[in-house]
Amino acid sequence: MAGLTCARELMQRGVDVVVFDKGRGLGGRMATRRAGGGFQFDHGAQYLTAQGDGFSAMLKRAEAAGALARWPQDREEPTFVGVPGMTSLAKYLGIGLSIRKETRIEGIVKANGRWKLVWEGGNETFDRVVITAPAPQIGALLPDAHHFNVPLGTVRMTPCLTLMVGLHHGVKLPFVSRHEPDDC
Ligand SMILES: Cc1cc2nc3c(=O)[nH]c(=O)nc-3n(C[C@H](O)[C@H](O)[C@H](O)COP(=O)(O)OP(=O)(O)OC[C@H]3O[C@@H](n4cnc5c(N)ncnc54)[C@H](O)[C@@H]3O)c2cc1C
Repeated sequence: MAGLTCARELMQRGVDVVVFDKGRGLGGRMATRRAGGGFQFDHGAQYLTAQGDGFSAMLKRAEAAGALARWPQDREEPTFVGVPGMTSLAKYLGIGLSIRKETRIEGIVKANGRWKLVWEGGNETFDRVVITAPAPQIGALLPDAHHFNVPLGTVRMTPCLTLMVGLHHGVKLPFVSRHEPDDC
């Protein structure tokens, strides 16, 4: 979400942008997985709400384009889900962008005032680099002496776990969504 949003904003301002992602599909932690038996799980983010006007407007545009639908919840703010899965929003944000999937950046090296991205079997040099990988993964990409390394080393992430369960044959359960007020 962060990388695609940034890339879209830059593209709309006339910047020539290339997005690299190590994943097979787009979306990162906004992820959809299919499993045998016809199951599909949104095993990262399950729904979206907007706190700010800009994000809210983007969600409504994605809804109009058919990438999102409203999900009735007893929350004050509108709640959206990707259709048919959460990765649909990432695909929507990726429209028109130059995207290299399945390309894991292994290092970022400064060369003559520019930045060389290095991946298995290739490299390419750019004027500017925006990194939106999770903070603890960024240190391994930057040069050892980079001034971001100290603050990045202080970032601690807490886990968010998903259990994926598929039920066969006529098990009728009410749909339940539980939200703890002190959830992060
Ligand atoms: C189980 C779970 C449930 C969640 N539920 C919700 C929810 O209900 N609602 C909600 O709003 N949020 C939820 N979240 C949080 C939400 O998913 C994340 O905050 C959001 O998706 C993070 O987006 P991001 O762009 O910052 O990072 P990411 O989605 O992690 O994107 C980072 C991208 O960088 C790529 N990348 C990393 N390293 C490299 C590399 N070396 N080279 C190339 N590419 C690289 C990855 O492939 C990935 O696509 C949940 C998260 C989890 C894990």
